[in-house]
Amino acid sequence: MSAIVLFSGGQDSTACLAWALERFDRVETIGFDYHQRHRIELSQRPVIRAALAQKFPRWAPKLGPDHVIDLSALAAIGATAMTQDIAITLDASGLPNTFVPGRNLLFLTFAAALAYPRGLRHIVGGMCETDFSGYPDCRDDTIKAMQATINLGMDSHFIIETPLMWIDKAATWRLAETLGGQALVDLTVEETHTCYLGTRDQKHDWGYGCGTCPACQLRAEGWRRFRAPGP
Ligand code: ZN
Repeated sequence: MSAIVLFSGGQDSTACLAWALERFDRVETIGFDYHQRHRIELSQRPVIRAALAQKFPRWAPKLGPDHVIDLSALAAIGATAMTQDIAITLDASGLPNTFVPGRNLLFLTFAAALAYPRGLRHIVGGMCETDFSGYPDCRDDTIKAMQATINLGMDSHFIIETPLMWIDKAATWRLAETLGGQALVDLTVEETHTCYLGTRDQKHDWGYGCGTCPACQLRAEGWRRFRAPGP
């Protein structure tokens, strides 16, 4: 069984990549360059892949090629705080302006288009409804509808796997620990990047980041609950 993982270089997609390497015989990765306002996630991708292969010899032979797709058109057509240097705010509907309309829909479509000729059956993504950032394209219903649409439109039988859909950020840290022990927790802290502002010169116990943007807050809060002593 083989899979392609939507791999951004963040904590969530790194957990998904480890999850896939534990389950599938062959795993390829796909990332997207949509002129996100910081390049750090993209530049951490090969670092994380190399570290996973080096620290986990059982995964190394399964890790196939990486693919980076240019989606600069996404930045060209719209202003969002993810692709432009503007403050992160909520709009009238409560949606953060880091929302890039259609982004995950495009990502899944491109992943399927790449997976199709390569014979990769499973598409793995870190979409999550639990710590809902307000992104409607992360909802389980959206993903299930995309799976149906892609399979109809490509006459295929892809399975879209979202291992993080119903777990919170503390559980994502625990998932890393379950899959790869302390070594994977350490790798996640040290190499994955989540901060919306691209800050990488401030180190916290949960990793690098500004510490105040919504992504850092979620990550830090998840870490705090992950590290808190049990009942
Ligand atoms: Zn931040």
